[in-house]
Amino acid sequence: MERVYNFSAGPSVLPVSVLEKVQKDLVSFGNAGMSVMEMSHRSKEFEEIIQKCEALLREILEIPTNYKVLFLQGGASTQFSMVPLNLLKHFQTAAFINTGSWSKKAISEAKKYGDVKIIASSEDKNYSYIPKLEDLYIDPSIDYLHITSNNTIEGTKFSSFPTTKAPLVADFSSNILSEPIDVSKFGLIYAGAQKNIGPAGLTIVIIRDDLIGHANTLCPTMLDYKTHVGASSLYNTPPTFSIYVSMLVLEWIKEQGGLKQIHENNLLKAKLLYDFIDQSPLFSSPVEIESRSLMNIPFSTSSEEINKQFLVEALANGFVNLEGHRSVGGMRASIYNAMPVEGIEKLVQFMSQFEKNIVE
Ligand code: PLP
Repeated sequence: MERVYNFSAGPSVLPVSVLEKVQKDLVSFGNAGMSVMEMSHRSKEFEEIIQKCEALLREILEIPTNYKVLFLQGGASTQFSMVPLNLLKHFQTAAFINTGSWSKKAISEAKKYGDVKIIASSEDKNYSYIPKLEDLYIDPSIDYLHITSNNTIEGTKFSSFPTTKAPLVADFSSNILSEPIDVSKFGLIYAGAQKNIGPAGLTIVIIRDDLIGHANTLCPTMLDYKTHVGASSLYNTPPTFSIYVSMLVLEWIKEQGGLKQIHENNLLKAKLLYDFIDQSPLFSSPVEIESRSLMNIPFSTSSEEINKQFLVEALANGFVNLEGHRSVGGMRASIYNAMPVEGIEKLVQFMSQFEKNIVE
């Protein structure tokens, strides 16, 4: 069967060339005589894979040497508790900017371990914008400030980041590796792999050295960053196959010209879709222009029935997973790094034809 255009929010599309490499090496990796899936995580071959994966990530994101990179499990959702368990130390207080469903989940976990201050929120307008950073007062007596850099469900993203004395912690699950970032502005970055990094099962944490080793005394061993730093992410069995495929995705990013080129492609893809939506008599975007995500683009018509018809016809034409999140409705195109420009061009052509049929 031919490949479809997959607009899933995650797990999501991977580069075809990566999938082909995986297929080629699936039964026997190099001279190992076995699949990466069958290898000991303590073997020489796997050690080389995990080290290469880390080296590529460090190179591509220009991660400074005073940061550790961890390959963990449990998804970004586990980070919602791991962060407060490790970072609430002096003041027992965390500040949050509430920009949507994933921020809310992170907030409710942090509340179990300390005080939480919501210093800004876009809940008043259905999370359709990112609060203005100039208006923020950030109390110096907090242990960290948490943001969700890209809001997968609502389709917003931070285009700049708050400046804080306290460490800035960011959930980058849905826009890591989509554009260059200055890692030194953050105390901790985390991301589930299953959108822009690789297959589900792997969670990446980038943590500044001074934030390691201060976990709450009741923190489970597996949730203490120090455990994983001390064991170079091999304290227990890591998600070996996901790490291997992620290494291939990172190689692919380098081949594309790194994050500068990836960002340019992402800007082009998002512009194609937003430009069409903004001039359309049928479709509209619920998101404020300055806050729009490059990765997740929600859109809708004014009628539930037409939305349904659109989704049925889109599916029949090979455009899959365009349903909006169940909490928002309408449609959403998730266009991560591996979605080719051609996928957006074809989608826009299809939307334009659909619109003609409805409007005329
Ligand atoms: N944070 C963001 C921004 C997400 O988009 C998601 C999943 O889509 C999560 C957290 C939860 O990630 P996981 O399923 O890896 O726990």
